[in-house]
Amino acid sequence: MSNHDPNCIFCKIIASEIPAYKIYEDEYIFSFLDINPLSEAHLLVIPKTHEETIDTLPEQYASAIGRALPKLAKAVKLATDNPAFNILQNNHKRSGQEVPHVHFHIIPRTENDNLGYRWHPKQLDEENAQQLIADITAHL
Ligand code: 5GP
Ligand code: ZN
Repeated sequence: MSNHDPNCIFCKIIASEIPAYKIYEDEYIFSFLDINPLSEAHLLVIPKTHEETIDTLPEQYASAIGRALPKLAKAVKLATDNPAFNILQNNHKRSGQEVPHVHFHIIPRTENDNLGYRWHPKQLDEENAQQLIADITAHL
């Protein structure tokens, strides 16, 4: 079972209604070049079902993405002869998600590319950590 949203740009790519530079495809996933790459060989990997965020993605699609990411990353690494890359996945507008169809970015990183990677970490304290363990594991 897969969902299709006729208004979704990535669903249209999966259905070949609009073109994309395809890198890989199987029963559950599709990978293609990002149209506005942050670096050379910036790829996207998407499930072939319309789901807005990863927390509701059915397991077969999540598994397929999990299997493919290391292989795709390795191929990008070898093709670009560059060992550095980020894998990013945004959920919800507030996180920076622009296209509301789950997608993973594979972004090669080059010397002085000015993309950054350090956010602004805070200190985790013992009480907070114990509370979080209780709160989160209660939902697993
Ligand atoms: P987000 O900010 O949602 O994590 O990233 C969305 C990504 O999708 C952006 O990097 C953007 O360049 C890419 N994108 C948006 N529309 C298209 C499209 O029509 N084709 C392709 N190949 N990439 C797209
Ligand atoms: Zn979609």
